Amino acid sequence: MRAITLIPGKQGTLGVTEVPEPEPKAGQLLVQGLALGICGTDRELNSGEYGWPRAEPMILGHESLGRVLRAPEGSAYSPGDLVVGVVRRPDPEPCPACARGEFDMCRNGGYTERGIKELDGYGSERWVVEAGYAIKIDPALGELGVLVEPASVVAKAWEHIEAIGARAWFGPQNVLVTGAGPIGLLAALLAKQRGLDVHVLDRATDGIKPALVADLGGTYHAGDGIESVGFKPDIIVEATGAAQLVVEAMLNNAAAGIVCLTGVSSGGRLIRMDAGQINRDIVLENDVVFGSVNANLRHYRAAAAALTKADHDWLSRLITRRLPLDQAPAAFEPGDHVKVVINLES
Ligand SMILES: [Zn+2]
Repeated sequence: MRAITLIPGKQGTLGVTEVPEPEPKAGQLLVQGLALGICGTDRELNSGEYGWPRAEPMILGHESLGRVLRAPEGSAYSPGDLVVGVVRRPDPEPCPACARGEFDMCRNGGYTERGIKELDGYGSERWVVEAGYAIKIDPALGELGVLVEPASVVAKAWEHIEAIGARAWFGPQNVLVTGAGPIGLLAALLAKQRGLDVHVLDRATDGIKPALVADLGGTYHAGDGIESVGFKPDIIVEATGAAQLVVEAMLNNAAAGIVCLTGVSSGGRLIRMDAGQINRDIVLENDVVFGSVNANLRHYRAAAAALTKADHDWLSRLITRRLPLDQAPAAFEPGDHVKVVINLES
């Protein structure tokens, strides 16, 4: 069968290659791959900036969607079910967080990840997954199930924002999302589902991003700086990783503001900042700035539920490029796409 493979840490090794058919072990599902989403992590793996060494090439892909071909006797799955595979697995000798199923909060870095860290991913015509790490998708969601993994990252971020807010009286009115990529737009969707006044800041002045935010009932701000939005948000979800925006988010939030950082910055870019002023602002306003990454089973289920009740036409517009498997390398070309999805059945 065909798969998207690369050698982690080595640029220029990505290709569509022939690999052996996967053999499900006890407790595993055999799945027909349907769709695979490509994100910034995949691009970093392709460029060799990120990745863990392996003797064999690795099958890429962690934003999955597939259809069950074979399920273990007595499992909750049947052939034909749509499923998404969870990305992370706990470390073999679990840390206290992993031992409690909170592997998204792993304390020792010993976790593994499908298609990212040590384990083969979901970018192949067929794949296997442990039944306990498969998330059943409502058939009504169809192809849009491929958005469950990025949405799970956002569902976790929102769960943690609400947990932090619950430390005291909490009545947020508005949220600013910085960056109108897939994570930013899905964060905006989940904010809207919470009844918040949603604002999104991005550099794009035209194209689909302003339209998607408007159609969600949000306010789009084209620009570079958080001050330009004209108010101090109760919550900021930073989804670009741009150092300047990270610093501005810490300084330009409402009192008792919550800043959730979800973007991964590339190091080495220095900007001038007044650490004393940032500290003063955070202390005197009881602000919380926190980072959020990955997702556990609870967040995948929350994400699947959130997408199922969302406007499916709107979700479908997030997928701005669809490629057949043989053209998978084109997904890594620079471009102005929101979400690129590879059809694993073509
Ligand atoms: Zn752990």
